[in-house]
Amino acid sequence: MINLRAERLPVHRGPAAWSAILPDQAPPVRLDEDLAVDVAIVGGGFAGLSAARRLHEIDARTRIAVLEAGRLAEGASGRNSGFMIDLPHDLSSEDYAGKGVAADQKTIALNRAAIAFARSAVEEYGIDPAWFDPAGKINGAASTKAHELNRSYAAHLGHLGESSEMLDEKAMFAVTGSRHYLSGLYTPGTVMLQPAGYIRSVGAGLRKAGVHVFEESPVMRIARAGQGWELATQRGRVTAAKVILANNGHLESFGFKRGRLMHIFLYASMTVDLDRDTLSRLGGQPRWGITPSDPMGTTMRRIDGPQGGNRIVTRSCASFLPGMVPSEAALARTARVHRRKFADRFPSIADVPMEFSWAGHLCLSRNGVAVMRELEPGLFSACCDNGLGTVRSTLTGIGAADLVAGRASDISAHFLSEDEPTKLAPSPFAEIGANIYLKWREWQARRE
Ligand SMILES: Cc1cc2nc3c(=O)[nH]c(=O)nc-3n(C[C@H](O)[C@H](O)[C@H](O)COP(=O)(O)OP(=O)(O)OC[C@H]3O[C@@H](n4cnc5c(N)ncnc54)[C@H](O)[C@@H]3O)c2cc1C
Repeated sequence: MINLRAERLPVHRGPAAWSAILPDQAPPVRLDEDLAVDVAIVGGGFAGLSAARRLHEIDARTRIAVLEAGRLAEGASGRNSGFMIDLPHDLSSEDYAGKGVAADQKTIALNRAAIAFARSAVEEYGIDPAWFDPAGKINGAASTKAHELNRSYAAHLGHLGESSEMLDEKAMFAVTGSRHYLSGLYTPGTVMLQPAGYIRSVGAGLRKAGVHVFEESPVMRIARAGQGWELATQRGRVTAAKVILANNGHLESFGFKRGRLMHIFLYASMTVDLDRDTLSRLGGQPRWGITPSDPMGTTMRRIDGPQGGNRIVTRSCASFLPGMVPSEAALARTARVHRRKFADRFPSIADVPMEFSWAGHLCLSRNGVAVMRELEPGLFSACCDNGLGTVRSTLTGIGAADLVAGRASDISAHFLSEDEPTKLAPSPFAEIGANIYLKWREWQARRE
C-alpha cells in the first residue's frame, strides 16, 4: 500500500515581485470538495500547467485537476528572470563536428519546441504580447576574458548555422545606458517573458477550457486507491486514475530521489517604477535582457510599462539549501549585493530604491538530468528543472503528458533516455562543499 506524505511544503522568502507589479487577481479557487478526475497534477508552474495544456490538447474530454500549493506564479515560475532561451548556455560541440554538434542541435530543437508550445498558448488564450516578447537577449561581457568567450560562442553558433551579432561597447551603451559592458553577443531566439503574467494567464486559459486549477491547495498525501490514486489537501480530496508530480524539488518531499537532488536558491531584486527624470538620466532602450557570459555572474533586465512598470531587475547570488528554506539573513545579504551590482552598472541612478527582493527555488541534478518518468504505476513526474525551467519544465510537462496519454513523442523519448540523477555527497559535506564552490564561482564571476 503506497501512502506518500508531503514532508515539506514550499516556503517563500520575499514577495513574488512579477505578480505584485501586475493588476490584482481574482480570489483563489481552492479545492474544498471531493472530486474525481482522470489526471491530477501536483504543482502549477511551467511543468504542471504545460502538462495540463498538453493533456487537454491531446483529448479535450480528459478530466484534469491542477493542485497548486500557493497562488499561481508565487513559486519559482513567477520568481525568475523571464528568459525563455532557445540556445544551450554551453555548447558541447568543441570539435565543431560529430556528436557535439548533433547534441547541441537536438537541445536547440527541443528548446524551440517548448517556445512554440508557449507561443501557441499565448495565441489561443489571448495573452498580452508584452508578456511574451520575442526580443532576443544579449550575453554581456564586462572583461576581455568574457569577450573572448563570447567570440568563441559566436563561432560555435556560426558552425551550427545559428545567427548572432556582436555589439561593441558603444552599442551596449546605446541599448542599456550602462558603460559596464565591453561587448555583448545578441542572439535573436530568446523570448522575454513577464513570467507571472504568462503563468497566471495560462492558468486562466486552462480554466476557461474546463481544466480545474486549484490554488492554495497543497497536496499533503498521495495514496493508492484501487487502480488509481487519492490526493488529499486540507479541505478536499481528488481521486485520479493517473497523477503527474510537477512540483520540481518538492518531488523529494514525497520521498523520491532522496540524496540526488540539489536544492539551489537564486536571489533577485527589482527597482521601483522609474520616474521620468530617472529614465532620462538612464537613457538606453525601454526593454532589454542581459545574461552574464559566466553563468555565476549577474543577470540584468529592463522592463517597461506594459510589463509592470519601468524597472530594472538584478539577479545574482546562489545558495545550496537541502532544507529548502532560505533565511531572511541570506535575503538581506543578497539584496545588498544586488544594490552594489546595480550601482556598478548604473552609477548615474545608483540612488534608485529597490522595491522588491526575493529568493526562488531551483532543483538541479549533478549530471544535469530531469526526472520525467513513471515512478510507480500511474504516478508520473515532470521534475528537476536544472535551472532553466521556462523551457526545460515546459518540456518535462509536455513529455509527462505524452507519457500519461500513451503517445510516444520525441520529447518524452528524450527524457526517458536520460540517466538517474547521480548521488550527492552525504550531508553536511554536500552542503558545505557546494556552498564553498558557489561562493568561489561567484567571486570568479564578480565583474560579470
Ligand atoms: C531568481 C531566479 C531567476 C531565474 N531565471 C530564469 C530564467 O531567466 N530562465 C529560466 O528558464 N529559468 C529561470 N529560473 C528557473 C525557473 O524559475 C525554474 O526553472 C522554473 O520555475 C521551474 O518550473 P517548474 O514548474 O518545474 O517548478 P516550479 O516553478 O518550482 O513549480 C512547482 C510548483 O509546485 C508547487 N508545489 C510544491 N509542493 C506542492 C504540493 N505538495 N502541493 C501542491 N503544489 C506543490 C510549488 O508551489 C510550485 O508552484 C530562475 C529562477 C530563479 C529563482
